[in-house]
Amino acid sequence: MRYISTRGQAPALNFEEVVLTGMATDGGLYVPETVPQLSHEELASMAGLSYAEIAFRVMKPFVGGEIDDETFRGLVRDAYATFSHDAIVPLNQLDANHFLLELFHGPTLAFKDVALQLLGRILDHFLAKRGERAVIMGATSGDTGSAAIEGCRHCDHLDIFILHPHNRVSEVQRRQMTTVLADNVFNIAIEGNFDDAQAMVKASFANQGFLNGERLVAVNSINWARIMAQIVYYVAAGVALGAPHREVSFCVPSANFGNLFAGYMAYQMGLPVKQFIIATNANDILHRTLADNDFSKRELAATLAPSMDIVVSSNFERLLFDAYDRDGDAVRELLERFQSEPAVLAEAPLAKLREKFSSFSVDDDTILEAIRDARHRTKELLDPHTATGYLAAQRARADATTPMITLATAHPAKFAEAVVKAGFSGVPLPAHMADLLEREERYSVLPAELKAVQAFVADNRR
Ligand SMILES: *Cc1c(COP(=O)(O)O)cnc(C)c1O
Repeated sequence: MRYISTRGQAPALNFEEVVLTGMATDGGLYVPETVPQLSHEELASMAGLSYAEIAFRVMKPFVGGEIDDETFRGLVRDAYATFSHDAIVPLNQLDANHFLLELFHGPTLAFKDVALQLLGRILDHFLAKRGERAVIMGATSGDTGSAAIEGCRHCDHLDIFILHPHNRVSEVQRRQMTTVLADNVFNIAIEGNFDDAQAMVKASFANQGFLNGERLVAVNSINWARIMAQIVYYVAAGVALGAPHREVSFCVPSANFGNLFAGYMAYQMGLPVKQFIIATNANDILHRTLADNDFSKRELAATLAPSMDIVVSSNFERLLFDAYDRDGDAVRELLERFQSEPAVLAEAPLAKLREKFSSFSVDDDTILEAIRDARHRTKELLDPHTATGYLAAQRARADATTPMITLATAHPAKFAEAVVKAGFSGVPLPAHMADLLEREERYSVLPAELKAVQAFVADNRR
């Protein structure tokens, strides 16, 4: 399998290279050169298989033989053995034809575990084979950092350094990172805000001299392997509800669009999908683009669904590449214009997107109403991100006969503040992490200075 850049100018890579590379050298994102197909028979034969087996079958063509089948099966099995529910991603029926796909049974209680548990293992496998080591650096305001740490804690060939703004992440989120006491895990609390942390990580990727030649790897959602791992749960949920014999629809709480792009890939591979609904919070660039052809940046709003607080939706570029018939020059031109001024999509690609995608934006007050409404009507306590999806699924649904699957992206205990604000008493942590607030923590506080951070990374990597 070869991967090409959405901006058409970077060299094509194989799977191993694409996993070890972040952004393409032309500023684009990598996508498969051709989309592997799942035939009607192949989809039908997945009914009743374990999640790990479906995962192996869906992902195998993307790996393209670069990991032998037995080894890859083992990586997949180990990745999902860390989940606390036997179904890995159980479907929970809310009403006659609306389902929640619970993606929060992994170690950090959010959907990012599904991809990062596997990505860490794939990276470690390739590095071991090459006899190399690598450093992972990332900045986080919440979910990604803890999921990345949990995904890499057992990886012998990786050292992971995660920067978070000191005293500016919730206690649960901080402790999910800082109580992982593995030798290769380094938490850095930056005396600054998230943007300071992010800027230092970006500067380190741009100039990697401080690592004396060791590889720096990105595990943010532009890494292709994360998308690949997420395709699986769309296929598994679709098949569980009758695909390929009938269509299903999905509603996805969205920010960087990595989650929903994986759903689109499942559709491209052959899963019969009637409708995709993009749910956003008040940071609504995706909704404005689809509804009003307003592809422009707006100031960041801090919302009750903080893991969806974004200005730019990076993985949307992958969808635009298809909407523009894979014309890398057109995508590059559009994205470069968008960087500096409000942009609009051309008519044909926008019309194409609107055939399959709808969107709905949910503000904070409506998030609280949705949490109350869901509890009242279905007994389920939703986290604020999932609540945007729950509401958007009802408001933007094209028809009532196609099963609607809303992706539950986080466990409510992880965002208890919003749940309490909606009028409920706190949400207990699941049993396997009930003692989180008593566990020993380890982190280093550093000033928001690039030199200090880079010296810390260089000195502590193994
Ligand atoms: C990351 C995250 C999202 C947004 O997912 P994208 O792939 O960036 O669209 C939604 N909900 C939760 C809980 C998240 O952690």
